Amino acid sequence: GAPAAEVSQYACQRRTTTDNYNVVFTDAFEVLAECYEFNQMDGRCLAFRRAASVLKSLPRGLSSLEETHSLPCLGGHAKAIIGEILQHGRAFDVEKVLSDERYQTLKLFTSVYGVGPKTAEKWYRSGLRSLDHILADQSIQLNHMQQNGFLHYGDISRAVSKAEARALTKAIGETVQAITPDALLALTGGFRRGKEFGHDVDIIFTTLELGMEENLLLAVIKSLEKQGILLYCDYQASTFDLTKLPTHSFEAMDHFAKCFLILRLEASQVEEGLNSPVEDIRGWRAVRVDLVSPPVDRYAFALLGWTGSRQFERDLRRFARKERRMLLDNHGLYDKTKEEFLAAGTEKDIFDHLGLEYMEPWQRNA
Ligand code: ATP
Ligand code: MN
Ligand code: MN
Repeated sequence: GAPAAEVSQYACQRRTTTDNYNVVFTDAFEVLAECYEFNQMDGRCLAFRRAASVLKSLPRGLSSLEETHSLPCLGGHAKAIIGEILQHGRAFDVEKVLSDERYQTLKLFTSVYGVGPKTAEKWYRSGLRSLDHILADQSIQLNHMQQNGFLHYGDISRAVSKAEARALTKAIGETVQAITPDALLALTGGFRRGKEFGHDVDIIFTTLELGMEENLLLAVIKSLEKQGILLYCDYQASTFDLTKLPTHSFEAMDHFAKCFLILRLEASQVEEGLNSPVEDIRGWRAVRVDLVSPPVDRYAFALLGWTGSRQFERDLRRFARKERRMLLDNHGLYDKTKEEFLAAGTEKDIFDHLGLEYMEPWQRNA
């Protein structure tokens, strides 16, 4: 047949749907990436995330090691893992990590909302091994976020279905509409990319009235509270500075007004019922919801940034910097050659500025 097209080293030049034909390899890589993350070996962690992302974009499953020769971002270790899995169905290094007590414990602790690798590590070092240990330990001071993480642990650790996300989008949409009839709103994150399940629901909205977006978000939160569905709210006021250049590092969060919530979702709101028999009988479940409200002239940048995937975003920024001498983040795009900001009304405008072919949200599952 025809020679396969060259695979780009940049995720923003690889159309990646939710169909992953290499899940045996990418799952293995993600275990190793997470292990490196726990050990603060960021370079190796990123290398395995990149390797996984390349394999996710392939139109079929790898069947021989030779097929990896033409692929970018695969180091010696990654290739050795692929070879082992092809030959034996499993890789020694991955099995070792999965059976490691420290890995298992850090994975368990970080599964609690509000607990990051640093806190998990501290608890592990003081000898704690289970969630019951932590709750029973009088010397541990949980912050508000962690308290709610434990309180709603069962609900939050269960996946959110597309139907549940749709029901919440409808509820938030009606709340926004009641405050500002001329609002823009979109379900973003993994669900916008076509995923069937997610760990939360990400929604972006704004008002056409520039400068009123923060008030809108505050009014929405107040309304959710009044409706009796606000179980937890971590509000982060805008720290957006118009004059600042886009940041170089991707991991820095954006400066828009946003909030991280836990909302109560009634079974009756979801046509297909809740994604859990137990909670369906109880009649409701708790769901993690992120809301972000950027100024309307930054809406396209924020939408692009919040749609993800994380790997897609990372490579968009890297591509802009390395290939175009441009700086991109959730707030804007700066051309270092022209020394000016480039405006965008749609995501398509941003791809055009970058000289990239447009990618639909469902093709951004890198
Ligand atoms: P999942 O289905 O697990 O929720 P997801 O792709 O929706 O997957 P999220 O963690 O919800 O993952 O993040 C969605 C997008 O929003 C990502 O692209 C991420 O970079 C961006 N994002 C998340 N939190 C923030 C934040 N505080 N500031 C800026 N961007 C964020
Ligand atoms: Mn999400
Ligand atoms: Mn989120």
